[in-house]
Amino acid sequence: MNSTAEGWTATDGATLYGVEQWGKPYFNVSAQGNIIVQPRGSFHDSVDLVEIVKELQDRSLSLPCIIRFDDILEDCLKRLNTAFENAISQYGYGGCYRGVFPVKCNQQRYLLEQLVESGRRWHFGLEAGSKAELLIALSLLDDPDALLICNGYKDRSYIETAILARQLGRNPILVIEQPDEVRRIIEVNHNLDTAPLIGIRAKLSTHSIGRWGSSVGERAKFGLAIPDIIAAVEMLKAADLLGSLCLLHFHIGSQISDIAVLKDALQEAGQIYVQLTELGAPMGYLDVGGGLGIDYDGSRTATAASTNYSLQNYANDVVATIQECCSSHSIQLPTLITESGRAIASHCSVLIFNVLGTGSVPAEIPELTENEPLTVRNLRYTLANITLENLQEIWNDALKFKEDALYAFRLGYLSLEDRAKAEQLTWACAERIASLATYLNPADLPDGLKSLQLSLANTYYANLSIFRSAPDTWAIGQLFPILPIHRLNERPMYLGRFADLTCDSDGKLARFIDKGHVKTLLELHKYKENEPYLIGLFLGGAYQEVMGNFHNLFGTTNSVHIRLGSNGNYHFDNIVKGSTNAETLQAMEHDPDLLIGRLKLASEIAMKKGNITINEAQALINHLKTSLSEITYHLQ
Ligand SMILES: *Cc1c(COP(=O)(O)O)cnc(C)c1O
Repeated sequence: MNSTAEGWTATDGATLYGVEQWGKPYFNVSAQGNIIVQPRGSFHDSVDLVEIVKELQDRSLSLPCIIRFDDILEDCLKRLNTAFENAISQYGYGGCYRGVFPVKCNQQRYLLEQLVESGRRWHFGLEAGSKAELLIALSLLDDPDALLICNGYKDRSYIETAILARQLGRNPILVIEQPDEVRRIIEVNHNLDTAPLIGIRAKLSTHSIGRWGSSVGERAKFGLAIPDIIAAVEMLKAADLLGSLCLLHFHIGSQISDIAVLKDALQEAGQIYVQLTELGAPMGYLDVGGGLGIDYDGSRTATAASTNYSLQNYANDVVATIQECCSSHSIQLPTLITESGRAIASHCSVLIFNVLGTGSVPAEIPELTENEPLTVRNLRYTLANITLENLQEIWNDALKFKEDALYAFRLGYLSLEDRAKAEQLTWACAERIASLATYLNPADLPDGLKSLQLSLANTYYANLSIFRSAPDTWAIGQLFPILPIHRLNERPMYLGRFADLTCDSDGKLARFIDKGHVKTLLELHKYKENEPYLIGLFLGGAYQEVMGNFHNLFGTTNSVHIRLGSNGNYHFDNIVKGSTNAETLQAMEHDPDLLIGRLKLASEIAMKKGNITINEAQALINHLKTSLSEITYHLQ
């Protein structure tokens, strides 16, 4: 046996799931093998995630549940602002930084309220991409020094709202994304006394790579090409509005994995900014959009689930590139804006779901009886003699004995019962060999054992809908850290994937982070009946729950905010129950009362015919009524 076969500690568990890489500085593993959360970063107070789940269950909040750590949100904001403060002082940049949060990344009320509150000390603002988001931003942002960036398609009422809101002390900047918006802004402004604040979104020629690469370049959906920018400046000048042009914006797509792409974009945008001031626009703001990436797999590589740069690298590049560009033309340095969504909202929310059971092979060992035929005895002997050293060899033996059994059966020498035993014993050998193979380095496994592991992989039935809670795993193959939140001090002896509650064959989690690669099976523990097996999906606070849908009528999950106290304890806040069955039905225009009414009628008819007793009918209707007020997931 090699050395890893002996003990297994929580540290081994942390290493296996890469917690030290992707989890820093908020997630770690306790000596007891539970995931712990350090909401204010390493070296600060920590809370045990399993404890939290227990306390939630005491409050009748069942799984799946989203736990949002307000302190993590605040810490992420702090890190972003600090990174820019550091960069500004390191390069002696003669301007400031003023970030905004794109509302579309997570529109949840309590998250946004918390974000605005936590961001107040940096005058952190919001970015809106639609009229509804504008309404949220206008009502939440009461700090006159915070910015409100208005992106997205803008009709007359959007434009008029943004201009009129200036009278309330809000400062929405209308970013022109489409050539015809210039004309519309000019027209709307004509009838108003207040001047708008105007920005222009540039279509850069710099191409991002990866998933969102097509959001830039000449054929991008948004932004003005250079000739359109020139035309817009002339139109604004003619309408006496050039004095309102204060911002240049670009956005090269989400999850920028490679910092080199950003540098190119910054240089290009910096030149456009300089030229716009030379054309007579006052300017003052340069908005570098979103795209600051998250290291989902902790590999620090330019792969889709990672980034090849740190937050500080990012801030340094923005500050240094723009400084170089503007200083060489002796123009005043702009206030720098980022619209980072993913980088602010991902870490604070953790989705916990439980496993309802596993679909595994029938590997029970049949009872020993007298006078078993040789092939069955051979398989028993094989099973008893599996060791870590002979895995491949002994698997070959098992396969041969199984062949022998089949041959004997065909010739009439083996009873049906004995053939059943032979098959069960073969499965038992396979299971034992595959689980011992998890002790070995995957790279050293012979192909035969690898494919054995694959064919024995278990399906773990997960109490969630990926369409609701992790839609990007399905829509764009996004990876998240997914792992058990307890038993990490116990060697996971199985390989598995998750199937969700929906009746959709796409409803599964079968791609997992693997240090710069992807693995299709995850190391998991034996599922024990009557003992919860809790799984966490981490870093999913951006774009997941808010983009989720009602597939199969699974609704929102329960959710809760957690805030750390001064003495290391924590309290629950904003407990929100997930959608009930009645609510998801109503979302599709069904009337729950009417549905129940129809079934009452059907049960009256069935009673008359003598097909159902009154007690049975009552029970049936009561079940249906109760379920209307319950959440849509499997209740424990
Ligand atoms: C989506 C979006 C963002 C946010 O991007 P992240 O990758 O989440 O930082 C910022 N700006 C604009 C214009 C967007 O459309």
